[in-house]
Amino acid sequence: MGEQIPDRYQLQPLHSDSVPWRGQPGQQVLWIGCSDSGCDELESLSLPSDEIFEYRSLGNMMVDDLSCNTTLRYALDSLKIRNIVICGHYGCHIANGEVNSGLQKPWSSILDTLRSTHHHTLDSLTGNKRDRALVELNVLEQVHSLSQSAEAADALQKDQLSIWGMVYDKASKTGYQLVEA
Ligand SMILES: [Zn+2]
Repeated sequence: MGEQIPDRYQLQPLHSDSVPWRGQPGQQVLWIGCSDSGCDELESLSLPSDEIFEYRSLGNMMVDDLSCNTTLRYALDSLKIRNIVICGHYGCHIANGEVNSGLQKPWSSILDTLRSTHHHTLDSLTGNKRDRALVELNVLEQVHSLSQSAEAADALQKDQLSIWGMVYDKASKTGYQLVEA
């Protein structure tokens, strides 16, 4: 399990029969995963592929570009999707900053901001715990920034959308929901 920051959020283990975003059968979820996750979290969590509309990006980030905006607009307007999951994963080379030199803006600046905003928390951690916290904090940051996008904010205001943050641990094949305190 990752480093839980008690006053910020908790990690709750997820099981395929208890995922909170599953509504009626056949209803799709926009799944925003990371490009380098190995793509096995859906299978490991036994989430049916016909319920998932999948989008992968570097560090599971939704940035303000044509690809992300079109995906979001299509999911909300055409597919009538009511749940979005942002799923990070432990061991993420992007969230952990290992590929920073090859990352361009806005991805690199999102990570820089994340590290400076949470430097007190991150400075108190080392090694694996720090890496895990970065992955978790990045997911929460993405949930917040997606909530504030024009596309999602409108649907959230009308109670037509929920956005969920989670992390996947490939080693134990376990997913955790990030629940903010
Ligand atoms: Zn990754």
